[in-house]
Amino acid sequence: MIPYSFDYKVADSLEEAFSLLSEAGENGALLAGGHTLIPAMKLRLSEPDTVIDISKISDLNQITKDGDILVVGALTNHATVARSGDVMTYCRSLGEAAGVIGDPQVRNKGTIGGNIAHADPASDYPGVLLSLNATVVAKSDSGSRSIAIDDFFTALFETALTEGEIITEIQIPVLGEGTGSAYIKFPNPASRYAVVGVGVVITLTDGKCTACRIGITGAADHAFRASVTEEVLLGSDLSTDDIEAACQHAAEGQELLSDLAASANYRVHLCSVMVKRAINIAVERAIG
Ligand SMILES: Cc1cc2nc3c(=O)[nH]c(=O)nc-3n(C[C@H](O)[C@H](O)[C@H](O)COP(=O)(O)OP(=O)(O)OC[C@H]3O[C@@H](n4cnc5c(N)ncnc54)[C@H](O)[C@@H]3O)c2cc1C
Repeated sequence: MIPYSFDYKVADSLEEAFSLLSEAGENGALLAGGHTLIPAMKLRLSEPDTVIDISKISDLNQITKDGDILVVGALTNHATVARSGDVMTYCRSLGEAAGVIGDPQVRNKGTIGGNIAHADPASDYPGVLLSLNATVVAKSDSGSRSIAIDDFFTALFETALTEGEIITEIQIPVLGEGTGSAYIKFPNPASRYAVVGVGVVITLTDGKCTACRIGITGAADHAFRASVTEEVLLGSDLSTDDIEAACQHAAEGQELLSDLAASANYRVHLCSVMVKRAINIAVERAIG
């Protein structure tokens, strides 16, 4: 399939990108790794008049540690996230999620910023970033703002980003002593996207769960936290029975998707099974 004709512009800096975006108005689209935008244009699901290539802005393509925060530039591709020593040391589940995205070609081109901006309900990062309590930093020509990940994914393919904003980085609190994380998914066998993907971060103090965040992707129109499961686990000693009971509530309060990959009922089942497995891995890692 061949896309219609459009203008292609390259931005070498954020300032240039803002100016090109404002010139293009609502008919402009940013191009990062192109692994969603280009297929969508070929299928004519997306028809921007101007494509603004931001992939050369090197400031947005790095992973750094700033005190207790790991900062992942928006243009960092999935393979780099998966291979990063800092990611694996300080936020292991993020590296795990990056490493199971698509195939090597997708991981070498697709970027973390493009992935979350697109907000595909079956993407891997939304679940793991919810569990890691990340913050998304977005900039525009009128300034910068930080968006808590809990407020970022708002609906199917929709986020809290407004017109003219570019995600510049994702900030993730470094996991401390006694904290373990894990990301696992039940992949669609054809696309490798998540039918259900689960990120867990759990903290143990004197054998009791003192903090817990669970993010689920793939199951609903946008990623959500398994809030009831989190509440049931808090303060428990994480016995097999406690975990089993808590996981029954993994999808509580959510309207789950039903499609060719899985019915809503099957997704409810997958949520509880996958949450249980991810909790067990995270607990093992928290114990060390
Ligand atoms: C065959 C295949 C299999 C895949 N499997 C998986 C999978 O298993 N799991 C998974 O999570 N993903 C999967 N993906 C998606 C892939 O992970 C890409 O990350 C995703 O397509 C978007 O990233 P990108 O950098 O390619 O963005 P692009 O395609 O360049 O852009 C996507 C959208 O985000 C916008 N955008 C890009 N960067 C920014 C930014 N910094 N700020 C604001 N807006 C921005 C663009 O304007 C566009 O609307 C798959 C893709 C393919 C083609």
